[in-house]
Amino acid sequence: MQAFIEPLFVNIAIVFSFTHLVNMFFPLHPGAIPDIKNKVVFGAISGIGALVCMVYPIETLKDVYFDLRNVPIMIVTLYAGWLPGAICSLVVILARVGMGGEYVWLGIILTLLAYIVSLAYQNFFDEDKKRWISAIYIAVIYTLFYMLFIHTYLNFLSLEFYLIYFSCFLIAFFSCIFLIERLVKINMQLKETVYLDKLAVAGQMAAAIAHEVRNPLTTIRGMIQFLGSTTTDKKLKEHSPLLINELDRTNKIITDYLSMVKPDVPKLERIHLKQVIKDVVSLTAPYGAIHNVEVTLSDIGSYEVCVDEQRLKQGLINIIKNGVEAIEDTGTIHLYRYKVTKRNIIIAIEDNGKGMTKEELEQIGLPFYTTKAKGTGLGMMVTYKLIGGMGGKLSYESDVGTGTKVLLSLPLCTKSGKGPEEVIN
Ligand code: ADP
Ligand code: MG
Repeated sequence: MQAFIEPLFVNIAIVFSFTHLVNMFFPLHPGAIPDIKNKVVFGAISGIGALVCMVYPIETLKDVYFDLRNVPIMIVTLYAGWLPGAICSLVVILARVGMGGEYVWLGIILTLLAYIVSLAYQNFFDEDKKRWISAIYIAVIYTLFYMLFIHTYLNFLSLEFYLIYFSCFLIAFFSCIFLIERLVKINMQLKETVYLDKLAVAGQMAAAIAHEVRNPLTTIRGMIQFLGSTTTDKKLKEHSPLLINELDRTNKIITDYLSMVKPDVPKLERIHLKQVIKDVVSLTAPYGAIHNVEVTLSDIGSYEVCVDEQRLKQGLINIIKNGVEAIEDTGTIHLYRYKVTKRNIIIAIEDNGKGMTKEELEQIGLPFYTTKAKGTGLGMMVTYKLIGGMGGKLSYESDVGTGTKVLLSLPLCTKSGKGPEEVIN
């Protein structure tokens, strides 16, 4: 019995160490589709993992070798796709042919079985919610076929062997999936922490700068007011109100920004979404017109949302401005009602600009991320914060060359109109 268990435990340890090794060099992320180079690397690493497993087989059984080489094949096919799976299987088959013996053909068939079963269920396995169910299916189907083959062709195997071998296989297979899922989660949390750190630094810096700029502005304003009221110079008297107006506007922008980066509570009010969006469209239409972009709005219907009006407007303006800037010649930005659920209304802001790649999409909202020569890379960071702060959500869909769709989800008003948490189901 020990002769069966020992090599299998060594095999399980090998599978775990290779999973950690891959994660160390290529941190695992959800839905991350590796490029062709990485696929080849994954295939090669899992192939080596399988080979190392083959070095420690259950040795007592004629010239058949039982080990857990099938686990790397299955895991890499399920997570990384057909190519790495094929590379890994090929490595295993070549090694098995090299080892020779009476049952080479059976070894090859069992390797192909692992590959084909995983490939057949890969799409099913890809969906987060069905992952564990499909893993169970895969394990059951594979185990049954495997048993059928060895029972038919290797009649010298004991019941004890079946029990131990398949228990170890199932332990290795499921714990490897569990390990990968945990690693993915930990990587995500790490990424989020780095993002939040950057966000905090950007916010603090911007707040400090804004604060410093406001002080001299106040002095300048006072001086202009004083000079304007005491001077005999006609021109200065005439223009000083304009100067003061502009300074007040600048001051307001800074105050707005400061209030945004400060973690204060947004003023949630019951507002008519249609009116706010109309205002924003008429506010941004001239900016669009200068850039040959038409900003259009479909009737979104009468909905009341519980939001901070100023913040919503600011967020929408930032999104529309980005849309205008993404259109190179002429184009349109279209705002319309995308969906209404029990609690939320989703507004789409769709442009037919240059669009974004998947990598670019992942970076949107990170402090200082910009692709524009004169961009600040703060617009979307602030917008995410503004919208998130009042219970809304932002998401992006984009195709290079076709355009971008921004989905803005806002909390609908409750019957009492107090806040999103009081929504009546
Ligand atoms: P900025 O506008 O100063 O560059 P933002 O945070 O507003 O900063 O946007 C960050 C980046 O996201 C932009 O530089 C641009 O590359 C990309 N982006 C945002 N919205 C769109 C859009 N609608 N279409 C294409 N790219 C966009
Ligand atoms: Mg911007």
